[in-house]
Amino acid sequence: MVRGEAGSPWRLGIIGGGPAGSFFAHFASRWSSRLQIPVSLIIFDGKSFQKSGPQGCNLCAGVISRSLQLRLKEEGIFLPAKRIMSWVEGYRLHIQDESIRLESPPGRQGKVATVFRGNGPRYTRFPDIVSFDDFLLNWAQDMGARVIPFPVQSLRFPEKDGDPIIVLYGSSPTSLAEEEVDWLIGAFGVNTNLGQKLQHFGLGYVPPATRLTFQAELKFPGDIREEIIGHDIHIFFPRHRLIRYATLIPKGQFTTLTIIGWKDISPDILQQFYELPEIKKRFPPSKPTCFCYPRIVISSCRPPKNPRFLLVGDAAFCRYYKNGLESAFLSARLAAQAIFENYSRKNSNKIYYHRAEKFIIKDNFYGRILFRCNDLIASFPPLTKFNLSLIRKTCESFLSRQLKEILWDIFTGEKPYRQIFRACLQPRLLWEILKFSIIEICKKRKNEISHSGLAAPHESHKISQPEDSNKTEVSRQDLFLSSSKVMMNNNLNSTSGEISSAFDKAAALSPTSLYSVKSLEIKETTSLSNKTIVVIGGGPAGTSFAIKLRRLVRHQPQPPRIFLYEGKPLEKKSHYNQCLGVLSPPLPEIMEKELAFPSPGL
Ligand SMILES: Cc1cc2nc3c(=O)[nH]c(=O)nc-3n(C[C@H](O)[C@H](O)[C@H](O)COP(=O)(O)OP(=O)(O)OC[C@H]3O[C@@H](n4cnc5c(N)ncnc54)[C@H](O)[C@@H]3O)c2cc1C
Repeated sequence: MVRGEAGSPWRLGIIGGGPAGSFFAHFASRWSSRLQIPVSLIIFDGKSFQKSGPQGCNLCAGVISRSLQLRLKEEGIFLPAKRIMSWVEGYRLHIQDESIRLESPPGRQGKVATVFRGNGPRYTRFPDIVSFDDFLLNWAQDMGARVIPFPVQSLRFPEKDGDPIIVLYGSSPTSLAEEEVDWLIGAFGVNTNLGQKLQHFGLGYVPPATRLTFQAELKFPGDIREEIIGHDIHIFFPRHRLIRYATLIPKGQFTTLTIIGWKDISPDILQQFYELPEIKKRFPPSKPTCFCYPRIVISSCRPPKNPRFLLVGDAAFCRYYKNGLESAFLSARLAAQAIFENYSRKNSNKIYYHRAEKFIIKDNFYGRILFRCNDLIASFPPLTKFNLSLIRKTCESFLSRQLKEILWDIFTGEKPYRQIFRACLQPRLLWEILKFSIIEICKKRKNEISHSGLAAPHESHKISQPEDSNKTEVSRQDLFLSSSKVMMNNNLNSTSGEISSAFDKAAALSPTSLYSVKSLEIKETTSLSNKTIVVIGGGPAGTSFAIKLRRLVRHQPQPPRIFLYEGKPLEKKSHYNQCLGVLSPPLPEIMEKELAFPSPGL
């Protein structure tokens, strides 16, 4: 009698009742109804997700991407509101001294959610069970799975094809019970030693490579939580020899800190984190309510050769540094599909790993490239500044929107890495970056040339005395201007268009090249040739004076150099000189005649 076809159900054993195990039970149940194959689903897991602290937790940051939420909805799995700790509004990237906020690209619906995998941090009590894994395991039970609340200690694989696999389970290796199964699904993750044990079973299985990370539940004072963390996920990319990146994730009253290192995390990592300048200035050290050192998957496993033993979730492979829960969902779906579609053949395992390779594992190749690029940009300040200026200066342009979307997709994991990688290489984006770079370099060069003859910042700007002057000081005043920086340009010309372009150049100066006027010495001068004239204030009086003067002296053999200082970035809407803006006659006429300003009415 073939199992599953004539009444006696297929026995599917699942080691691990985490997300991968529960998702597999869900899909297996769906396939069994669709193909009318009776199944008996048995989940082995010694953990109770209704407990708080690491005992009931599968050690993860608990970010549920929108793409996973969508997949769950499509399967009819609706996560109840009380299991969600926070809804995320945006992502804030902190790279050295700079920060940038990313919001969801337009047209995408829903919000990223955060959950506790277990029933909250150690010693906390919630009025209801909040655990995400508990919800999924209940779901699996509702789909017909039976849970055996003990860990699996060992396995016995039959010598004869078709004989059952024996699962040995129990709380200690000395008192074991047995369960026979026809198929075995390994969904045991990477945070127990079962994977290492199985490596020596001669099955060919080698667990994926992992890295030790750090995770803590922090309780910051309410004002810090609300004002600094808010509803955003904060990602820090410090220049630190141990910390690759760290995230702060809002979860109701708590904030989850996750630290990912360049290597395995060391025990004093929390102290090192609090000592980072970008953290020190924002957060007071907070003692963790709960902490752990979970392992994160960084490569894929070598699959076992046994055709009736399939691995899903972290025990097999995972998306590179992102959305492990979604990978668990996808691998469980692929495994169930491979088993049920090919149950009469003996190659379901090969079909499964082949598909997983195509849809999940290969994508990590692009993920690694993207993360490496990000590391490079974050660790090299000029590159960081350049990249952030690309996003900031180009405002809501195509370039800015695309770059923000790419960053959003990398850090939320909403799109496959390959798709993000392709987006990075789209010709229009590359062209815009090249164009922006060339313009920036030209602007910088021009500014350097035009300022090369000037005094260094913070030195007094000396207006030289004419050789033929009688050196009498007419008046001497020290004018203390506001401490704010004053922009400068020396490139005035007589037409309005050129004046405004001169302002653009001034605005493009980098903060370090801005000059601040501290004091001023006014001396008598009799000739203007080759002199320096400084106009303070770029309002109508200052600019009219500068334009008129420039027009008057332009045919002189050695015309004076004219500098105009103006602190307000007047091209911005928020900066203007308060006035009703009425140009009553004969002002337009005078402006046209004296300053060669085209009349606004023309
Ligand atoms: C620091 C960190 C942060 C992360 N943050 C996120 C995130 O924000 N979002 C996200 O999507 N992913 C995240 N991940 C990845 C995510 O945690 C995993 O990809 C996901 O938990 C994999 O699910 P799983 O069911 O395969 O394994 P697990 O969640 O580890 O579940 C394995 C289950 O198997 C059980 N088990 C183990 N051994 C045995 C045994 N011998 N017998 C019986 N049962 C056993 C365990 O008790 C457990 O319940 C993070 C990972 C780390 C390390």
